[in-house]
Amino acid sequence: MRLAIAGFNLESVTFLPNPTTLNDFEVLAKRGQDLVDSFSGTNTVPGGFIAECNAHKIDMLPLVYSEAGAAALATDEAFDHYLREISEGILKEKTALDGVLLGLHGALVTNSFKTDFDFIFELRKKIGDRMPIGVSFDLHGNLDPKLAELVDVMSAYRESPHVDMGATGQRVAKLLIGKIKGILEPKTIIKKVPITLPSIFTATQVSPLSEIMSHARNKERENNGLLDCCVVMGFAYADVPQIGISILATAQTDITIAQKAADEMALLIWNQRQSLYPKHTIYSVTSGLAEAQDSIKPSGKPVVILEHADRMNDSTYVLRELLELPGIKSAAPYFWDPQAAQKALTKPVGSTIKLSIGGNSSKKAGDPISVSAEIIWSGEPSFSMGGVMGKGRPVSLGPTAIIQVNTVLIWLISANVSAINLDPFEQFGFDHKDFDIVLLRSKTHFRAIWETESEKIIIVDTPDWGPGLLDTLPYQNARKGVFPIT
Ligand SMILES: [Zn+2]
Repeated sequence: MRLAIAGFNLESVTFLPNPTTLNDFEVLAKRGQDLVDSFSGTNTVPGGFIAECNAHKIDMLPLVYSEAGAAALATDEAFDHYLREISEGILKEKTALDGVLLGLHGALVTNSFKTDFDFIFELRKKIGDRMPIGVSFDLHGNLDPKLAELVDVMSAYRESPHVDMGATGQRVAKLLIGKIKGILEPKTIIKKVPITLPSIFTATQVSPLSEIMSHARNKERENNGLLDCCVVMGFAYADVPQIGISILATAQTDITIAQKAADEMALLIWNQRQSLYPKHTIYSVTSGLAEAQDSIKPSGKPVVILEHADRMNDSTYVLRELLELPGIKSAAPYFWDPQAAQKALTKPVGSTIKLSIGGNSSKKAGDPISVSAEIIWSGEPSFSMGGVMGKGRPVSLGPTAIIQVNTVLIWLISANVSAINLDPFEQFGFDHKDFDIVLLRSKTHFRAIWETESEKIIIVDTPDWGPGLLDTLPYQNARKGVFPIT
């Protein structure tokens, strides 16, 4: 057996102004043997595809795997480019190929509002109906129910933080291999639940979502032919008709078993909608900073402030306030500002420089901050990701400068990478315990490490494009009747 491996991944905030270009995708794109070498042994979707192929002694045709994290709309050029590259790679080897393993996000949107559904629809048109396709989705995908007609097998992450990316890739590969061998006859249904939640409330270890996820696992254990039951939480910042939660259920042979499980899970979630959206737990910047200062313990772990509305790692609302707090040692890891980083690299470490930092991604990211900074470290760091989620995957921050302003350490980076683990500290010789406050912009992924490494987590809302209070967003395309937005 021989399987193609490919992927095209983006979580699109449709409200952001600057599109995600082909160049942005190409920064991390891997092809051919480099794809296999880069992802083998990593806790990632392609890492899972590769592990399962190896376990079954299956030949691989590694085509291209590109991902651009979470950012604005993708350009149609990027969509067309990867569609062409993947379909041509498959067609070239069609007679010597048994199936395709594809890693998609599920919340990709282009500037002409094409989505992952269109990607698969157009891929099908090019490669034909007979080629088996298995797709892995992110837990934050806004899945279109019609995907079930185009894809042979699919599954999605069950955890957020996504510590199960590798396991999901393996699960999809196992289902596809089983189907190709004739051992499995998977039938999948996608049922929409008219709820969309801010990403901060999609942490799967936090109640009541943790109990909902346990219920899905219990359903799979009933051993009645249900092969897989994923609660896909959706992405509130992609304004598309298919916005919101989906139940992705797969049964062996009998679709009614999948349908029944999906109906039951959908009702369970709908009934919990108010407690899944605990907006009273969100602080304003002022009250969050006051709470953070009250929570600092002199010999304790840092307090985490989560500026979660910032989708581009360059919001200035909280940082501006931290710079004004005398005597409090704060860390602002992975602050995205390529121009400022580049400028800092022109001066030697130890020198002082005047910079304007942040606020570039849109007007809602806040005004840039003018600082006089000491350069503590500079270079172009590349390393293997630590922590749990994505462990082992290659990370490149691009031109980077760590600067100190008053008592605040700021990591100016050029590649838009979110800080989710201790890498910003450990890779550069710092100890996170030396800081009173750590400012993060992750949504749930930071919890895999910071739940235990922080004194307290304080969720702060700002005016940027990923707010916790969803009724502040100008939705135009979301279908009617989705709680709590339309
Ligand atoms: Zn996600």
